[in-house]
Amino acid sequence: MKDDFKYKCDICGQVYNIEKNLMLCPKCREDNIEGKPLKGILKVQLPARLKNSVKDKEKINIFDFLPVEEKYFPSISVGNTPLIEAKNIQNEYRIDNIYLKFDGTNPTGSFKDRASYLVSAFAKKNNVNEIVVASTGNAASSMAGIAAAAEQKAFIFMPESAPKAKLVQCLQYGAELIPIKGDYDKAFDLSLKFSQRTGFLNRNTAYNPMTIEGKKTVSFELNEQMLGKKIDYIFLPVGDGVVLSGVIKGFNDLKYLGIINKIPKIFGVQAENSSFIYDAFYNNVFNFNYKASTIADSISVNVARNGYTAVNDLKTIEGEMVLVSDEEIMFAQHRLSKMSGVFCEPSSAASFAGFLKLRENISKNKSVVLLLTGHGLKDIDTALKSIKFPKSFEADIDYIIDNLKF
Ligand SMILES: *Cc1c(COP(=O)(O)O)cnc(C)c1O
Repeated sequence: MKDDFKYKCDICGQVYNIEKNLMLCPKCREDNIEGKPLKGILKVQLPARLKNSVKDKEKINIFDFLPVEEKYFPSISVGNTPLIEAKNIQNEYRIDNIYLKFDGTNPTGSFKDRASYLVSAFAKKNNVNEIVVASTGNAASSMAGIAAAAEQKAFIFMPESAPKAKLVQCLQYGAELIPIKGDYDKAFDLSLKFSQRTGFLNRNTAYNPMTIEGKKTVSFELNEQMLGKKIDYIFLPVGDGVVLSGVIKGFNDLKYLGIINKIPKIFGVQAENSSFIYDAFYNNVFNFNYKASTIADSISVNVARNGYTAVNDLKTIEGEMVLVSDEEIMFAQHRLSKMSGVFCEPSSAASFAGFLKLRENISKNKSVVLLLTGHGLKDIDTALKSIKFPKSFEADIDYIIDNLKF
């Protein structure tokens, strides 16, 4: 039934049947991919029969547009995250429409669930019960949680320095956690070797084509939640660049299907000291020795694995990149929470920081979506740096009234 969904190489355009062990285009991939962006990334191509298949105003069933049948997905609710009109922020910055797409409400607290959900279903369809992943934190806790719902076994390669909550999540979900004495890039390469030796399915971002495909679902939701109102700008955080490519894939699919005719302008936001894609996008430098360092752990990436594809995708739709400092991220995180009630993690606050940086160039009548990819409670140590913890009070009401300033 889904046999007419295919893979298409992002470089040479060759079309392949979707198969369990096909991860990169056999013609374009490189044998040694250690520490480099991936070549020959495969994207799912929708069958032509779906073109114009959606009637005006008809509610979309997202499973019709994914390459795996609905029956293989685990019983857990992923996506359909809220789109929140940020009224206080609209008033403060005098822009008519600002929306927060809060993906921290996914079951494991991040956007990564969108990819893990599809990977899990793909594994189930192919009778694979073990899934391997390397992660800065969220892909790991996500795969662990979704695999638990699917009764699959997750093997997690993660830097030992990842935020505690993300490590705890993996263990809580019963995954096999392999903390690595090294950074994410090391974990990535080790996990690929582990998959090759064991034959287990690898979920690494960009490498497994289902990661970009799963992440496209957010664009379908946005299109529906906006109720026909157009989106002018989307701000989203960029690490490896798979969220970026996933969102663009979603809008490209919507266009292919005849559901929209214009793709919103997308601003990818990176931290100043994790700027691999920014540098490649504007200066055409792919620096394989780049060393990232930012408090926003989820977008702290040395060499973006989806680097070539992300840069190309963003150029094709005429998007832009923005850099923000760690200070701007921390400020944005706290400010966003205070103004909206949404507590997101630092990487997600980068979206808001990027918006704050460019807001003076955005005219009043535009509509802006900020993609908030992860929940703030995943990394309270970083959040603690931008708030002041109050001194304790005597347990005495008169003392409190006398000493509290309000
Ligand atoms: C992974 C992640 C990102 C960045 O996604 P990439 O695909 O690596 O660019 C941003 N925010 C959060 C919360 C994430 O977990």
